Amino acid sequence: MYTNKKYDFNSEAFAEAFHTDAPLGALWSREETRFVLWAPTAEKIILNLYPDGGSSEASAVHTMVRGDRGLWSVSLPGDWNGVYYDYQVTVEGTTRRTADPYAKACGANGSRSMVVDLRSTDPEGWAQDAPPARQGEDIIYEIHVKDFSFDTASGVPAAQRGKFVALTLEGTRLNGKDFPTCLDYLKKLGVTHVQLMPSYDYGSVDELGPDSQFNWGYDPVNYNVPEGSYSSDPTRGEKRIRELKQAIAALHQNGFRVIMDVVYNHTYALDSWLWRTVPGYFYRFWADGTPSDGSCCSNDVATERSMVGRYILDSVLYWTEEYHMDGFRFDLMGLMDVPLMNRIQEALDERYGAGEKLLFGEPWSADKTAARVGTVLADKSGIRQLHPNLGAFCDGTRDAIKGVLTDVKKPGFVNGGSLTAVELGKCLKGWTGAGEPFATPAQTIQYVSCHDDWTLWDKLVHTMGRDFDRMEPEILRANRLAAAMYFSCQGHVFLLSGEEFARTKQGEKNTYNATPELNQLDWNRAWENRDLIEYYRGLIALRKQLPGLCDKSGDANGRILEVKDIAKNCVTALVDNHGDSPWDQVLLAFSAAEEAVELKLPQGDWEVLCDGDSSFRWQSHGLCGKTADIAPKTCLILGRRNEE
Ligand code: CA
Repeated sequence: MYTNKKYDFNSEAFAEAFHTDAPLGALWSREETRFVLWAPTAEKIILNLYPDGGSSEASAVHTMVRGDRGLWSVSLPGDWNGVYYDYQVTVEGTTRRTADPYAKACGANGSRSMVVDLRSTDPEGWAQDAPPARQGEDIIYEIHVKDFSFDTASGVPAAQRGKFVALTLEGTRLNGKDFPTCLDYLKKLGVTHVQLMPSYDYGSVDELGPDSQFNWGYDPVNYNVPEGSYSSDPTRGEKRIRELKQAIAALHQNGFRVIMDVVYNHTYALDSWLWRTVPGYFYRFWADGTPSDGSCCSNDVATERSMVGRYILDSVLYWTEEYHMDGFRFDLMGLMDVPLMNRIQEALDERYGAGEKLLFGEPWSADKTAARVGTVLADKSGIRQLHPNLGAFCDGTRDAIKGVLTDVKKPGFVNGGSLTAVELGKCLKGWTGAGEPFATPAQTIQYVSCHDDWTLWDKLVHTMGRDFDRMEPEILRANRLAAAMYFSCQGHVFLLSGEEFARTKQGEKNTYNATPELNQLDWNRAWENRDLIEYYRGLIALRKQLPGLCDKSGDANGRILEVKDIAKNCVTALVDNHGDSPWDQVLLAFSAAEEAVELKLPQGDWEVLCDGDSSFRWQSHGLCGKTADIAPKTCLILGRRNEE
């Protein structure tokens, strides 16, 4: 395994000698393009220019000139917009061809970079594009660009299915029915944030290959370029840029903020553009020279090194500035270092206002990593050292409600397990408070399904039934209870698209490279389960009216007043709900009991807000007496009317 003979990349001396904040990449203007590459260990660099991003011969070759701090550059007079390029970088006698790791555009499969005039890629009105105002709560809905519209029943024209432009289409309907799909469907559902699974250029799908290919895309190739297989023409570098911008503009116009899923913890392969430019620098290695593999994807990016941190920060800022992204979800954030994550949050807060851009990630890794000694990682033990608005997925609530991921048959509360009042209290408080992993509910991402692992429905069927396509009433009831529970927890609410219509992957756990047909949103299934969708829709609308649960402040957990076991498998909690709401207190009851349980109500006029049948009870303002019955295996959410 390669190690550089001359430099210790972990050393302060290396950072002091070579760190630079100079602009990098192909810096276009109408008068000239300046090509700048950071490659401190290189002996020689050649720039090749091409008429296309494919396999044409170089139309011109230029030798780069070494400047200080490891910067190599050459300036070419004239307008080079649309010209493709790559480099030949020689390090310690070995020459490697590489695309530009700092590229903003590329050809098919990202193997050559492209010089781009970014303003020429702006769709009409882009300069005025802005996200909708932040609502009282963040309801984050995770979609995959191809999943979202690939179904032939999606109402999207064939040529646009699975593409960025499908996200711009209004008025799509399920074939032959008055049932909205895609963008119109999301508007009706009421979620506030759409999270795009990897939409940067990834390597596992041949952009010139058949549409039957599929991948989630957690295998980055060009960090600062959109994925080509989602564009109408991957061979023309400007198209994917414009089409992703069009998708974001349409989402903004239709009331959604957009979160981008980013994977800075590893690259598609160790032999990446970053590797070929500065071999060894961007990755972690064990002392014996083997590559660190905490990602279980063959390599770990060394986020703690200064020019790696700069690369990642610049990339996040670029997606925010150029594509108007409203937030980022960091894959395997547990492999990234806390100081870098905090620098990212602070830089975004400074530019866009505190908390305006939502940041969160997975506070874990797949295995141990060879970070520089002393590096504090943004894993579960590091969350409290993160900025108080920087969030992480909460496995505690997820596992308590539906059961762990390590044992398919092990249930949670809703599917045959149990839950104490103490455990419910932790979930409701977003696992904040003394001894808990989260400092504030602004950090807690509450969820019971994401693209990883079984869908909620499949986990429920694995524990309660057999057939993933049979809508057993008992399992549907458990699904509703699960949803009502995590929608009642403090924190940000997150769900995998289709959870609200019992999305199935036929019991499969990891479908990252399964067929598009298995992965796609099944819009006929949505129609069949429209009652369940309606239940989620009501929960979303109700949640936005419950300041006691939406409170993200450091002392929000003080609003969770009394958490009690009132019968076997039946837990309740009283919530201080003062604020902009018709109800000053909320009483939550969750029952997995076989029999109905009688709930004695505290003083005041109590209304049913939600029960197992409807999450829209709050619309009818029906008053309870001194007691209320909690039906078996369901929830009951009550609100106390504000005194006049
Ligand atoms: Ca690609």
